[in-house]
Amino acid sequence: MSLRIICEQAERGLNPMAHIEVCYRCPLCRKAYGKQSDAITCRNSHPIETETWAVGKGGKGVRIFEHCALDGLGGLRWALREADLSDDIKIRAEQLEEG
Ligand SMILES: [Zn+2]
Repeated sequence: MSLRIICEQAERGLNPMAHIEVCYRCPLCRKAYGKQSDAITCRNSHPIETETWAVGKGGKGVRIFEHCALDGLGGLRWALREADLSDDIKIRAEQLEEG
């Protein structure tokens, strides 16, 4: 007997045996739905995450965190300064002496 026939019989209550059910899970919050369209709606309802980055003259990116003090680690002014500083220790030391 095919899976489809078993499922149809189960739906009509003709076959009391175990049957197959498909659930559709939102990949973001893991909530399960009986209809794929409901899972798609749930997936699309989740907000997009926003990240803010400082980008230096040389293209170095430093993430800025909202709740950090302006000049503290992760803060806006710290990130803007950090983005312009090299990750190479020697070059960085020279840049700090210059500026
Ligand atoms: Zn969801």
